Formats: sequence, C-alpha cells, structure tokens
Amino acid sequence: MARDLGAVCRICRTEGQKLFFKGDRCFTTKCSFEKRSYWPGMHGKVKSARLKMSDFGTQLRQKQKLRKSYGMLERQFAGYFEKALKTKGVTGIKLLQLLESRLDNMVMRMGFTRSRAAARQLVLHGHITVDGKKVTIPSYQLKPGNEIAVRETSTQLGRCKESYLIASSRGIPDWVKVDPEKAKGTYLSLPTREQLPADIQENMVVEFYSR
Ligand code: SF4
Repeated sequence: MARDLGAVCRICRTEGQKLFFKGDRCFTTKCSFEKRSYWPGMHGKVKSARLKMSDFGTQLRQKQKLRKSYGMLERQFAGYFEKALKTKGVTGIKLLQLLESRLDNMVMRMGFTRSRAAARQLVLHGHITVDGKKVTIPSYQLKPGNEIAVRETSTQLGRCKESYLIASSRGIPDWVKVDPEKAKGTYLSLPTREQLPADIQENMVVEFYSR
C-alpha cells in the first residue's frame, strides 16, 4: 500500500501542532515545530498570522491532520471512514477505533517503536507476530484479545525492548498490556473516547465527509 512520503516536520507546522512522526527527535530541542511553530514556506509567518479559517477549512485541516498522523493516503483514509460509517455506533469514535486497531499503530502504542513509521517498517520486515503467526501487513486490523509480539528470533528484539523503556516513561495506554521482558503485549479492549488524545476533533472529520 502506498503512503505519504512528504517531509513530516512540515506536516506538524502546517497543522499547527506536534504530531510526533520522528520518535525521540520530537522530544528534543531539534524539533522543527519548537523552532518554527508557523506555516512552512517563505511567507509562512505572515500566512499563519493572517489565516482565518472557514468552517470547511477547519474540517479539512482536521481531516488532513488525522489522515497524515496515521501516514495514509486519501483513498485509504476515505475507506476507513466508509467502514466506520457502516459500523454500529458513533461514526467519529468508530473511525478512531479502526485507526487505533491497525497493527503498525499497536506496535507503536505498545512502545516497541517510538513512531508509526518505525512500527510500519518493523511489520513490513517480518519482525512482528499476531497470536503467534507472522504478519507483514501494517494495516492488519486487530481485535481485542489479540497478542502482538516481536519475534523471538528478530534482530530487532533488543532495540524493541530498549524502545519500550523510553516509551513507557512517557506512558503506555491502559487499553493494552505489555510484557516488556518477552517483548509482547495484548490488545485488551477498544479504546474509549476518553482514552484517546483529546486534541483530535473527529466530529470535524465526520462533517467533512458528510458535506
Ligand atoms: Fe513534528 Fe517536531 Fe517531530 Fe518534526 S520533530 S515530526 S516537527 S514533532
């Protein structure tokens, strides 16, 4: 599946918020957003100061922010929305739950990598198993109860354990349970809205697609 390969720090600056694409670097003073928290480009500063967003503009930005956070292209993201629409429940929350249930996201949430891009790489290169079976599809949809593990023979095992130590100091979500010694974890339950980042405005995304 294709993915967005644009300069990620520019995405944070355009969306006006840190989206943590670069793992550890995002937590240092090297973070581009810390240095220049205005739109990228020659006239970025002026544009940021003058920009008045219409309703459509706000909805579009929220949609773009969510889509890019998960490293997806438009068509794939729209597919997730369609799926959420067909699922029973509140569409916006269902959308977030579907996105959070992706295997690459879960590997990052469990702390085995510090960014989704690194998690995606780990999955693609065959380092991850789901319920004991190797899975190489980053978008693989997990269900509560699934056990995700770094393969015992993986050359990345040490690195994943190290990564967990740093990630756990920043917080591991309580809807997953991780055994760092064995480099494996269980997806306990679908995250509730309260357990997901408060700065996502999923209602805007729903409004964008409902126009
Ligand atoms: Fe965003 Fe800063 Fe991380 Fe770059 S380093 S991806 S600007 S949070």
